[in-house]
Amino acid sequence: MYFVEVILPLSLAKTFTYSVSEAEFEYIKKGMRVAVPFGKSKIYTALVIEIHQNKPALYEAKEIHEILDEKPIVTEIQIMHWHWIASYYMSAIGDVYRSAMPSALLLESETLISQKSEIFVDTSLLSDDEFLVYEALQQQNSLKVQDIIAILNKKNIFPVIQKLVDKNILVLQEEIQENYKPKLVRYVRLHSKYETDQGLGALLEILKNANKQKEIVMRYFQLCATEKTQGSKPITVKKLIEEANSSSAIIKALIEKEVFEDYFLQEDRVNFNGKIKDGELRLSGEQQIAFEEIKESFSHKEVCLLHGVTSSGKTEIYIKLIEEYLATGKQILYLLPEIALTTQLVGRLRAYFGNKVAVFHSKYNNNERIEVWNQVLQNSEKSQVVMGARSALFLPFHDLGFIIVDEEHEQTFKQADPAPRYHARDAAIVLANSHKAKVLLGSATPSIETYFNAKSDKFGLVEIFKRYGNVMMPNIELVDLKDKYFRKKMTGHFSDVLIEEITKALTLGEQVILFQNRRGYSPVVECITCGHVPQCQQCDVSLTYHKHKNQLRCHYCGYTMAKPTHCHACSSVDLTTKGFGTEQIEQELLTIFPNSKIGRMDQDTTRGKFGFEKIIDSFKNREMDILVGTQMLAKGLDFDNVSLVGIMNADNMLYHPDFRAFERSFQMMTQVAGRAGRSEKQGKVIVQTYNPNHNTIQQVTNNDYLGMYNEQLYDRQIYKYPPYFRIIKLTLKQRDFDKLKKGSMWLYQVMSQNLVMPVLGPEEPAISRIRNEYIRTIIVKIPQNVSIGNTKKTIQKMLNSFEAVAQFRAIKVILNVDFY
Ligand code: ADP
Ligand code: ZN
Ligand code: ZN
Repeated sequence: MYFVEVILPLSLAKTFTYSVSEAEFEYIKKGMRVAVPFGKSKIYTALVIEIHQNKPALYEAKEIHEILDEKPIVTEIQIMHWHWIASYYMSAIGDVYRSAMPSALLLESETLISQKSEIFVDTSLLSDDEFLVYEALQQQNSLKVQDIIAILNKKNIFPVIQKLVDKNILVLQEEIQENYKPKLVRYVRLHSKYETDQGLGALLEILKNANKQKEIVMRYFQLCATEKTQGSKPITVKKLIEEANSSSAIIKALIEKEVFEDYFLQEDRVNFNGKIKDGELRLSGEQQIAFEEIKESFSHKEVCLLHGVTSSGKTEIYIKLIEEYLATGKQILYLLPEIALTTQLVGRLRAYFGNKVAVFHSKYNNNERIEVWNQVLQNSEKSQVVMGARSALFLPFHDLGFIIVDEEHEQTFKQADPAPRYHARDAAIVLANSHKAKVLLGSATPSIETYFNAKSDKFGLVEIFKRYGNVMMPNIELVDLKDKYFRKKMTGHFSDVLIEEITKALTLGEQVILFQNRRGYSPVVECITCGHVPQCQQCDVSLTYHKHKNQLRCHYCGYTMAKPTHCHACSSVDLTTKGFGTEQIEQELLTIFPNSKIGRMDQDTTRGKFGFEKIIDSFKNREMDILVGTQMLAKGLDFDNVSLVGIMNADNMLYHPDFRAFERSFQMMTQVAGRAGRSEKQGKVIVQTYNPNHNTIQQVTNNDYLGMYNEQLYDRQIYKYPPYFRIIKLTLKQRDFDKLKKGSMWLYQVMSQNLVMPVLGPEEPAISRIRNEYIRTIIVKIPQNVSIGNTKKTIQKMLNSFEAVAQFRAIKVILNVDFY
């Protein structure tokens, strides 16, 4: 009797045993996929993780339908790593498998399949089976796998579908087709025949009787001269027209006369080429020292933190390190918090490493994803360096030598939904361990946890305190909103100082970024007179306003109070609960600066597939003067013409009910401020706040990361948060309010009795009902000296007993380990 042990792509913690023939037994290897029946009449793509001869005790093993691979497509290290993720993050192995694999590799009976639009199909090249499927799709828009089984009258149809997908004829329903094409910018240069001195004479002769054309050519020479002193940037058609006060018709005429020629370049490449000559990258003194220190640290530690201020040139250090690892022939993984950032970075890396750089992201279409998957699996040169968001962690690396986690503090590295709720930075460190690879974490504002690990010698620590090229850190100026409102110096949400600075920047042709945190919407009660926001007495977080109960609540300990009628700090009765958003800021700007071009970047304007990239491109190309945005702006973008950054209201970030609020406020403000003045001129940042003396605001102003760190660390210890305590958050959901209330109380009581550690809750979150489901949360804080593994086992046991109670069975429990 021969069996295989498989993982199914379903939310199941167990693996399953299927029976195979002796021949199949000889053929199958761990990491191959097999199609298997499951449930009543469903078929799934399962992954073989074991080949054995142990008959399952509890059920009759079904036979597999077919073997889908000739060679393993998942490595043993991956299987190990996925098991680690499942166990550490308390999620089903099936969930890990499903989110790790490109969906085209996971065909199942429910998958919808349709024909690619606007393609020519040479039917003579199709096999009989392929043709039948193709023909059926001429009658119907889409087919389910089950339909195809009926059409072909056989079970083994996955290979047929796979072939048609490979041939680019079929697509799986959910995939996104378009690919982002970076915008091309049009430039002009002098025709090569005029480049010599004699040529110049001839040119002047030609233009003798064309004054307007002559003017624009002279202006072109002037521009070239000034640009040369500033690092020799090519000249855009747009800029030349503006500077010469001319028209595109005249340029067109000059191009026809072969005085000028135009050419197109991708915006990213240009910025890049402008600064680095001949592809030869020379590190500055500081960068070189950091580079050597990182290597030194890798000689005895696995993980190193590179803490370098914004614009210190961390990317260039990454490039130098990648260069060294490339030479060893090992694979390199470059993780980014969000794919939106890659457009800029991929360009920078490709300029060095050409086609050795592959990009992987869940938004890429199936073919591209499978292509990268296979290249990585085959250790091909084309994907020796893989850049991607957190899901790139799941690729079938063979021989990983080096992982970079860029902007390691970003919370998007933690997957919130669905399971597995893993943290890509932490999972990357575990993965590196299996490969004996090194990990570099990079940030200008490291997370408290990471800096703590670096300070306590678990990680290496390398720091750069200066910007590249002696560019100064931006000058941060605080504007006291209380004072400004009192003196009536406000126009809408803009102080006179901010308006003045924006005017100045715009006059100089420089761009402005205004930052308004989305979180401003979270309802807190704020005093208009003094800016005071009521805080929880036990938890160091702001109380959240619950309108329906007219109550203030703490989300962490459940403390409540009636909504106050007056401010507890200054007794004023002018209390407000309204936040304000980016949209309102944009509206106000339109009236204050009617002649400027204003753009907005938030979840609403970037919803389209490439909304984010389009806005960034358009801002880079200087089609906008002012960009208003949310925290999306804080993400490592490199704009060279931004001289002013305005933070509209620093306070609503600070008073978000979250133990990380101060840390995040510091990170966000420092990162946004870091967008100012990235070239020669010192940038300026205006921070509008009711609390200019707040420690966090002062720390941002003084660029005092260490001050922030020490203060937060102290609080974390007192209030029992990471890095001193690990947090597991349980979210319970159920449509029936009373059932949920009972169930969550039951679970809370069992947990607090059985766990020797703080258990908080059951708490009603600010949004206590989503899609008709009521929500309760319970938080477990695991102290450092307690085994996290055992605690999880205990929790799992309690959850099992919870599920065994009939009336609680319908309550959904979601686990979030290391909740962010
Ligand atoms: P960070 O990631 O630390 O914020 P970047 O790597 O984006 O900083 O560098 C900031 C700017 O300085 C970029 O425009 C980059 O091209 C430039 N730069 C940094 N180091 C060098 C170098 N060694 N040679 C040329 N340009 C550099
Ligand atoms: Zn007050
Ligand atoms: Zn509290």
